[in-house]
Amino acid sequence: MEIVICAACDGYGTVEDEDTFVMVECDWCGGAGYVYRDDQGIDRKIPDGDYGKVADQLEQLEAERLRTLGYTGSPKKPWEQAVRKKRD
Ligand SMILES: [Zn+2]
Repeated sequence: MEIVICAACDGYGTVEDEDTFVMVECDWCGGAGYVYRDDQGIDRKIPDGDYGKVADQLEQLEAERLRTLGYTGSPKKPWEQAVRKKRD
């Protein structure tokens, strides 16, 4: 099963609630930031029980994502993200 970055949250694992502007766990990926993509191209949540199996793969994808973004450390913090979104 292919693993792709969650389209809903861009790999952050959190999304901004439309009403409260609070960062909440992404429904699509359950906060993982990544989802399974099946043969039909349909994305679905990675079950909790599968994280152990795909942890290495997720770690690699996350490292790649952060490199692409220009980060070497931790992902952008939710409050920084909220500031950016309000400017848009
Ligand atoms: Zn997500």
